[in-house]
Amino acid sequence: MKLKLYSTLTQQVGEVVPLNDNEIRMYTCGPTVHDYAHIGNFRTFVQFDLLRRTLKYFGFALKHVMNITDVDDNIITKSTAANMTLKEYTEIYANAFLEDMETLRIQRPEVMPRPTEHIDSMVELIMKLREKGFTYESEGSTYFRIDRFPEYGKLAQLERRQGEAVGRIDTDRYDKENPRDFVLWKARKPGEAYWDTPLGPGRPGWHIECSAMSMQHLGSTFDIHCGGADLVFPHHENEIAQSEAATGRPFAKRWLHCEFLMVNGQKMSKSLGNYYTLRGLLDKGYNPLAIRYLLASVHYRKQLNFTLEGLEQATAALQRVNDFVIRLREVPGGAEDNPALSQRTRDARARFEEGLADDMNTSVALAAVFELVRETNTLLENNQVGPGNRDEILDFLSAANQVFDVFQIEEQKLEDQEIVRLIEERREARMRRDFRRSDEIRQLLAERGVALEDTKEGTRWKRVI
Ligand code: AMP
Ligand code: ZN
Repeated sequence: MKLKLYSTLTQQVGEVVPLNDNEIRMYTCGPTVHDYAHIGNFRTFVQFDLLRRTLKYFGFALKHVMNITDVDDNIITKSTAANMTLKEYTEIYANAFLEDMETLRIQRPEVMPRPTEHIDSMVELIMKLREKGFTYESEGSTYFRIDRFPEYGKLAQLERRQGEAVGRIDTDRYDKENPRDFVLWKARKPGEAYWDTPLGPGRPGWHIECSAMSMQHLGSTFDIHCGGADLVFPHHENEIAQSEAATGRPFAKRWLHCEFLMVNGQKMSKSLGNYYTLRGLLDKGYNPLAIRYLLASVHYRKQLNFTLEGLEQATAALQRVNDFVIRLREVPGGAEDNPALSQRTRDARARFEEGLADDMNTSVALAAVFELVRETNTLLENNQVGPGNRDEILDFLSAANQVFDVFQIEEQKLEDQEIVRLIEERREARMRRDFRRSDEIRQLLAERGVALEDTKEGTRWKRVI
């Protein structure tokens, strides 16, 4: 099956064909580490983790680059207020971000460059633009001259949308010839971090950072560039202008943008104060995989409204699949296989793959999983599932997990001797009619995330999320 993806540049869905052999080179605009990221930011990063995994699922090799922006206005203001160097300050939030990524099972991209370590390639890029006449200087800063790049606006469709408010114009306190011109190199300001370079003392503008780092690690033309929907304009438009003006070659072939996580009809954002951090939700007792599942469950080109109720439903949905796996594993080895279920499992896998192939439609793909779980649950009640069916279904769930990575499929072995011992002790307590001790043990296990179920065949246990 061929993987197709939308591109903001062409406004069309098209087949993914790598520029080089079988390898996709992809750049994601990463976080600016001036504070903890919120789960709105993580919706974008989870979706591009799904993209990364989807590309691999469809057999592509991948070189993925995601920056961690460690210098910008916010960082400078906050680190100065905290009386810390840029590095000391950003290290705290960069590490927190990497930890949060791990908690959400977001795979590490192959390269995670930081702007402060790439100043040379930024300066080189700006010098090239200067030689070609795309820049001008004003009060020690260097600007990009937009009217020298006639294709400006092709990503954000500025021509078509003339007159519409297409987002924030890059406001800046410096003098510019045209209000849309954007800064490539900012003159040093007293008390701020700066670099001495042939462009004068100063620091890079935000847009040039991504152009320089992506082209340094992926070459001047690469396959996919992605980011949140608010980056289309002006950030990505500016990246295209300065990169293509410098190299004379097309920059990224395909552009993907993830729509917002919303709260009551508004974008989740720091400035509105309507945000949740991952850590805040974990402190409230929510499970990180339920958060990952929720952020993954809606197609990336649609907005997703966040509520705690929605998160609870996501938790319950995941638990349903995990419970199902435990039941499925109990299918007796001698049971008869059900050919109709084998066919349904193949169909579910096909629907799952079709969903992903169709512009990574995660909700269609997940629906295929849940439908099979529902159908098979009914068959399990009627003892119509055999060991062959079980293996086929587990195999499909493992495949789904290559992309989603939220289901508990591995057998929960009773390797935790402590749990087994406690269950045995509880059984003995109940025989003695010592219900206080029996309840205590149930409570103790519950605190460790282990739930007990007493059945005719004895006590079963499972981990709950
Ligand atoms: P920042 O650290 O502010 O540069 O943001 C990191 C990423 O999160 C960018 O790609 C933003 O577009 C994205 N982002 C910010 N707010 C949201 C939101 N509410 N929903 C989805 N993505 C967001
Ligand atoms: Zn960027």
